[in-house]
Amino acid sequence: MKILFASGEIFPFAKSGGLADVAGALPKALSSYVDISSVMPFYGFMDDLVAELFESFTLTIVRKKYKIEIYRKKEERSDIYFINAPHLSDTQKLYGDKTGDYKDNDLRFALFCRGVVRLAEILHVKLLHLNDWHTALCALYVKEQKLAVKTVFTIHNLAYQGIFDYASLGILGIKKRYFTMDGVEFYGKINLLKAGIAYSNAVTTVSPSYAKETLTQEFGCGLDGFLQHHKSKLQGILNGIDMVVFDPKHDTNLAVQYSQSEGKQKNKTALLRTSKLKDPKRPLFVMISRLVEQKGVDLLMESIADILKQHLNLYIIGEGPFAKELEKIAEGYDNFEFFNGYNEKLSHQLYAAADFLLMPSRFEPCGLSQLIAMRYGTVPIVHAVGGLKDSVHEKSKKCGQGIVFSKFNKKSMLLAVEKAMELLQDSKKHQEMIRFNMDCDFSFTKSAQKYLNIYQKI
Ligand code: ADP
Repeated sequence: MKILFASGEIFPFAKSGGLADVAGALPKALSSYVDISSVMPFYGFMDDLVAELFESFTLTIVRKKYKIEIYRKKEERSDIYFINAPHLSDTQKLYGDKTGDYKDNDLRFALFCRGVVRLAEILHVKLLHLNDWHTALCALYVKEQKLAVKTVFTIHNLAYQGIFDYASLGILGIKKRYFTMDGVEFYGKINLLKAGIAYSNAVTTVSPSYAKETLTQEFGCGLDGFLQHHKSKLQGILNGIDMVVFDPKHDTNLAVQYSQSEGKQKNKTALLRTSKLKDPKRPLFVMISRLVEQKGVDLLMESIADILKQHLNLYIIGEGPFAKELEKIAEGYDNFEFFNGYNEKLSHQLYAAADFLLMPSRFEPCGLSQLIAMRYGTVPIVHAVGGLKDSVHEKSKKCGQGIVFSKFNKKSMLLAVEKAMELLQDSKKHQEMIRFNMDCDFSFTKSAQKYLNIYQKI
């Protein structure tokens, strides 16, 4: 079976979050069973990419001509294609800059989707695996062109839907017959994510709990009713991580590679040397996250003064709307360091150096940070929601042990931090937990089988 896997970002070429990690790891895991290639946009910042020109053609959308180029990078397990198109490839970021989302994202990703569908035809693929709204129009194009291609659409985060003004219908040349409640219409606007849900043969999301949550008003982001309608083709499959990319035994980002917890202490000492934080004996709590409400940053803000009163160090790395506020808070403490920005290397160093990862997400489709943390022997402290509920366990002996709080409020979160401090007093239990998590299989192996079952079924 020949498959094309399409995503707006793939690690290591472009990454804004977990989607890139998944789009890097899942096709690799699937490549043991099927012939699979991946495709992503060629962004303006990817100048040093070494890839050969594979195909070029001119597209006409509403009387405007666009020159599209497809580049190919041959990889050991599965080839990766890059779509170079006007608008799409003109930007220095993926989806937007400090001023907000790029205004022409509708056209950018429509051109991407046109390129993807053309590539699917050239490669004679039987199945297109689409990810998030950036790729959702592919499902509409496949239907419209009556192509013999099946589509699987994976929702990585229902909060991002690709909503545009009605005028975009004309810009993208989408026929009016798709502008219905069953199609892309959404309160008078266009919702591209809906195209992925409506026109794909199967819809998945990234954890079983989130699949259930998306059907409720609380988590459905206005699409719960729509998803209820398509419930029979919806399934939740838990994400995994690339166990080679995230491997403390061989991670060259680290001061010291390790397989035992002693190695963590050395990484902590090395990290603190380059930071204002002192005393490596203090437990180190970290948060590695986009700084948005979804990640519970507002709850953290409420609790941070109480957390920092304790005998611990806190290190947060992230970017987003809460960054300025956190920067200010950090100025007032010698046990709180904040790094404003995105830094892959530093994030690995933090996973390795930390004792605990804070992940108080308000909602979490799956979350990868907690999996990476456990792989590096860092105990996650999570709110019991979505994929966090499915991957971190406190009461059962399942793989993935951590501290789980069920109520999204300050009291519960502070209690969880207290529990973490108590765990440190019981060194035997703590070390056992670290060892147990470091031996767990968080790879995509099991979940790849579930995707294969869907591919076979449709
Ligand atoms: P998201 O909702 O952002 O996709 P996930 O937990 O699924 O959250 O994945 C986040 C990924 O991005 C992880 O690999 C995490 O280590 C990484 N990450 C998040 N913020 C940063 C940052 N500021 N610098 C480096 N890596 C980050």
